[in-house]
Amino acid sequence: MFEIEKTRKDFPALSQKVYGKPLIYLDNAATIQKPQTVIDAISEMNSGINGNIHRAVHYLSGLCTERYEAARTSIQTFLHAAKKEEIIFTSGTTAAINLVAASFGERYIQKDDEILISEAEHHSNIVPWQLLCERKGAKIKVLPIHEDGSLAIEELPKLLSPKIKLCCISHISNVLGVVNPIKEIVRIAHAHQVPVLVDGAQGVVHESIDIQDIDCDFYVFSGHKLYGPTGIGILYGKESLLETMPPYQGGGDMIASVSFEGSSYAELPLKFEAGTANFIGAYGLKAAIDYLEQLGLPAIHAHEQMLTNYALQQLTRIDGFQVYGSAAPKSGLISFNIKGLHPTDTAMLLDKMGIAARSGHLCAQPLMQRFGVERMLRFSFALYNTKEEIDEAVAALAKAQQMLS
Ligand code: PMP
Repeated sequence: MFEIEKTRKDFPALSQKVYGKPLIYLDNAATIQKPQTVIDAISEMNSGINGNIHRAVHYLSGLCTERYEAARTSIQTFLHAAKKEEIIFTSGTTAAINLVAASFGERYIQKDDEILISEAEHHSNIVPWQLLCERKGAKIKVLPIHEDGSLAIEELPKLLSPKIKLCCISHISNVLGVVNPIKEIVRIAHAHQVPVLVDGAQGVVHESIDIQDIDCDFYVFSGHKLYGPTGIGILYGKESLLETMPPYQGGGDMIASVSFEGSSYAELPLKFEAGTANFIGAYGLKAAIDYLEQLGLPAIHAHEQMLTNYALQQLTRIDGFQVYGSAAPKSGLISFNIKGLHPTDTAMLLDKMGIAARSGHLCAQPLMQRFGVERMLRFSFALYNTKEEIDEAVAALAKAQQMLS
């Protein structure tokens, strides 16, 4: 195990006070705080290691290109991907899903085709598919979840008709926290010749990823949820599939040659990286991965699992507590309601006590409808959270309950 008190000192954001109270940051699923090494990496680049990549012969351009490509290799290793050409830099999860919807959609989706998503998806893994369906005259099909938040995987073979051209599932829902059996889903979908996109925005934070073992066709995530910078994200795609997909956006860096009569495109991965890439963000994400690997992923995941179990145990003692997503395995976050308490009012009171919690529809309105609520409260955990912080947050909820009811 890493030393938690020593580790907390790596995160400058954690030592601040809000409304005169020490910050207890429990909104990590929305965006996570950065360690000093990431801040230093970004700052060093911004302070002078700044030259546009893949273009010039000068020193700074060469150094930035080297760092950008080193970041790509680091992410390849982190995901256990077969090739670095399978790692595409995007601006985040949302951008990566939109890239696949546009490019895979252009090549493979036709009128009356269907795209399968689960009932527990973030709006980012719903709306891009709806836009694609509108363009193509295709349809969305929905894989339901059980009352405990587990996927109704027994329904999957029945839903996988020849019309389904892609299956899009989150690794861990940002509302339920339940770890979906993605390897099993991929196996079933592939048996029906259906490729699978995994939304790993939460999964990559709480699980170790072996992409070749999972065997999914696409895996996407955001840097800012993985202790890295905002504005950087990853699309992993199988080379054989990416090769068949047309470019998404046109511009510099994605071309082989351009003339007014027509253009030819760069090889992977640059084919999907038009324009000046966020090379500073990529280098910052590499610094985040280096930091996590130095602490040790298994120790981090065990700590987050312990926090989730402990928080659930403590929250269950509150009168009227209702959790959404009780199925195991569950890690990293807990969404809930407390009878008689409005989630937003409660989150505002917690805020005044120094506790950052999330409230609202959590970017998953269909899931709110599934559970018959408009809003929830959410606590989400990071490697730097402690049991003491959870005790304080639970005590603050009890106080809010007294004040509001
Ligand atoms: N999918 C899931 C499961 C998420 O939790 C989030 C962020 N809350 C997203 C997609 C979207 O990520 P981003 O806003 O970084 O693109």
